[in-house]
Amino acid sequence: MNAPLNMDHHWLPFTNNRLFHEEPQMFERAEGRRYWTPEGQEILDGASGLFCCAAGHGRTEIAEAVYEQLKTLDYTPHFQRAAPISFKFAEKLAKILPEGLDRVFFGGSGSEAVDTAMKLCLAYHRAAGEGQRTRFVSRNWAYHGVNLGGTSLAGMVNNRRDFSGVTCDVVHMRHTWTEEQRYTRGQPETGADIADDLEELCRTYGGETIAAVFVEPIAGSVGTIVPPKGYLQKLRATCDKYGILLVFDEVITGFGRTGSAFASQEFGVTPDVMTMAKALTNGCVPMSAVATTSAIQDVVYKAANGDRPEFFHGYTYSAHPVACAAGIATLDIYERDGLFARAKAMSDTFLDAVFSLRNLPNVSDLRGYGMMSGIQLTPGAAPGAKGSWAQRELFKAGLHLKATGDALIFAPALTVTEEEIAAMTDILRSVLGRSV
Ligand code: PMP
Repeated sequence: MNAPLNMDHHWLPFTNNRLFHEEPQMFERAEGRRYWTPEGQEILDGASGLFCCAAGHGRTEIAEAVYEQLKTLDYTPHFQRAAPISFKFAEKLAKILPEGLDRVFFGGSGSEAVDTAMKLCLAYHRAAGEGQRTRFVSRNWAYHGVNLGGTSLAGMVNNRRDFSGVTCDVVHMRHTWTEEQRYTRGQPETGADIADDLEELCRTYGGETIAAVFVEPIAGSVGTIVPPKGYLQKLRATCDKYGILLVFDEVITGFGRTGSAFASQEFGVTPDVMTMAKALTNGCVPMSAVATTSAIQDVVYKAANGDRPEFFHGYTYSAHPVACAAGIATLDIYERDGLFARAKAMSDTFLDAVFSLRNLPNVSDLRGYGMMSGIQLTPGAAPGAKGSWAQRELFKAGLHLKATGDALIFAPALTVTEEEIAAMTDILRSVLGRSV
């Protein structure tokens, strides 16, 4: 019997701390696609941690690279100083980024990447003589991290509710889920017209006041909402028409999740700015990146004068050498093991398994693309209650999935085997098949 948890000091993120001790869901060890609790129970990881550990847990190549880097150079400051390893990482990353997005700015988390991207868009417009572009467009149900910029962009109710009054000027488009898309596998055929919301916002507010449009190419945190065919293309066209920057938040969709390196390449739409994090280092070391074009960088550079930094922005841990070492080792694994192609090849097996859950009594919708899926549950006693119930019961039965409201996010590592997918689906079937 373990000692009871001391809840007096550690305030847990995104957690009901007052209830945590009643039924703590704890992980002590991880390897491959498995976690183990402190009591030794094996828990299959159906969510790649939180979409982070695309290459699976416990990759010794990354551990060794981090250890070597820590011994060689543990930290570098900024302000006209840098380390060779961050140049090496940026160069390596640029090779797999969507064409043209080859300038990379590093941060420590997805939230930092989002706020960096917002500030970059503002700095670009100001440098281009359009300082009146201070408004952002985002979508209902969007998740763009938890810093104040990202909180302003957020379209998920819980992310905004307690934090009004200090947010930036953001107007929201609709999300793209519609009733007729229920149980659609892949991209819905209809719904591209929802992108006309952007045109309408441009007319309402003046397109010349809008700095950028932020979208997750596949909305992840709300439970995998796949864009209708033609939707992203329409957003791109409207942004071009009004001189608005298009930002793809690929914090979840990046690094093979869709079957391509980035969703941008998968859907054939290139943004002006792109954010990434999570699988950038296989979740091992906190790190994020913002990529943009040389054209955007040039405008910012040319407007600068003297020796002041062109973009007066950065974090103490930007381009951290240890994170760069983890990132290089991670990209080496993706490349050597062909994990993006593997994700594409495994997607049918994975989505077959997801869509086999269709007739279970607690399931009301299924959505999926590549190696990410959402399982919408029938409503429970209160909003979110069914999701929490399912997350808890799945854990007890040996499967880690993330609940978001009354949806479950099912997105295993890109290294997952057919047997593991089958084992995860069996657990889902047994729990979601119960009458509650
Ligand atoms: N953007 C998106 C699309 C995300 O899914 C997330 C995290 N789930 C973030 C930003 C924020 O990332 P982080 O939690 O690393 O700050």
